[in-house]
Amino acid sequence: MPSFDFFNYQNNELFCEQVKVKDIIEKVKTPAYVYSKNSILKHFNEIRDAFAEASPLICFSVKSNSNLSICKILADAGAGFDVVSGGELYRVLKLGVSPDKIVFAGVGKTSEEIKYALENDIFMFNVESQSELANIDRIASDLNKTARIALRINPDIDPNTHVKTTTGKKENKFGIDFVIAEQIIKDIKNYRNIDLKGIHVHLGSPIYEPEPYVLALEKVNKFLQEVLDDKDKQRIEYINIGGGYCISYTGEKVKRPLAFATEIIPVVKKLGCKVIMEPGRFIVGNAGILVSRVTYTKVSSWGKKYIICDAAMNDLVRPSIYEAFHRVWPVNTDVPMPEVEMSYKVQSARLNQQRDMSDELELVDIAGPVCESSDVLAKERWFPKVKEGDLIAIFSAGAYGFTMSSTYNTRPRTCEILVDGGNISTIRRRETYEDLIAGEEEFLNER
Ligand SMILES: *Cc1c(COP(=O)(O)O)cnc(C)c1O
Repeated sequence: MPSFDFFNYQNNELFCEQVKVKDIIEKVKTPAYVYSKNSILKHFNEIRDAFAEASPLICFSVKSNSNLSICKILADAGAGFDVVSGGELYRVLKLGVSPDKIVFAGVGKTSEEIKYALENDIFMFNVESQSELANIDRIASDLNKTARIALRINPDIDPNTHVKTTTGKKENKFGIDFVIAEQIIKDIKNYRNIDLKGIHVHLGSPIYEPEPYVLALEKVNKFLQEVLDDKDKQRIEYINIGGGYCISYTGEKVKRPLAFATEIIPVVKKLGCKVIMEPGRFIVGNAGILVSRVTYTKVSSWGKKYIICDAAMNDLVRPSIYEAFHRVWPVNTDVPMPEVEMSYKVQSARLNQQRDMSDELELVDIAGPVCESSDVLAKERWFPKVKEGDLIAIFSAGAYGFTMSSTYNTRPRTCEILVDGGNISTIRRRETYEDLIAGEEEFLNER
């Protein structure tokens, strides 16, 4: 059986580190997110070691997994944080993270958020427009502060990922194009409370090849050579190369951080800047699973089979909005999970031997209970025969899983569980029905 990232099968049972997933679920019920602490640390160390030569400040992308206990693990390991809202900033400040390890990105920071960040002396704003820069300058002046900023460049590079997770092409709302960036740099003295410290580039996610990073950084380098005089060059002290490092969702081998670092570091060296990185998915993506229970199985008269489980698009929205692929497999099964699991269409094209598998496996859609046709977690998969009450695991759910969850259909958000060796701890309790109406109930009698 394949073993990956601290989730593996032993004697037909799925373990997270040294704990049986079934045992966790007996205590906490389903659906539940289960994370492996040592997997998180392993990934953090791997990316840090890969880029060690550039000694980057690694700012964990909070939006990928914002749970306080997860952020605490990374803070203790020495990470900084990349936040994209006042709420995320609040979270990391709550942890006591040093403000000089916090960078703030996002295309629409409000005046309140900017003020909050300035009052707390965060390290840097990644600025995405002239209007935003003027606003930060004004607020910094009111507060008698200087705001450190990096210009987020939109280099118009295609990172070859899903259109909805592409951020560095000219049709995307993110960043500043080179022409405007040049104007800003030329006018920078007019922004009296701004200290231009660096350049930021984030292309999108997940990115499977180093080339887009290299191309983007080459473009930035060329731009800086052309536009900056020597004095200005000195002030570009930092290059923030963003996040986007891929993980394997299928079990297929994908490039590891070292492969990215080998190509990226030489270009970064040409720039002669200190490096900031903002990985999210790579650190937590394969460190978490979503565990769900089969509620019903259902067959149509034309033979289509559905497994209806108690996790839904509100718990894990990536398949619905990005057509994302997550491996799914029963928690207890004597059918080995394939080394590489792919969608039926890919499988058919590659193997063309599905009929041999049909004794143990059946072709199913795995769907949740939400009233939307897009509430399908896995489409057309060859899956071991399961029955009502069986547990299934949805893999690679540690990034953009819980953080993108909602209470749609008035479904309480799941609990989050952290495993460390043989220890299990709850790091977020399951929401209750009372939680869901808490902000509304008080207004009922006023009307
Ligand atoms: C989302 C985001 C990241 C993290 O991307 P990952 O794919 O999770 O590594 C980094 N930087 C910015 C600005 C982002 O918006």
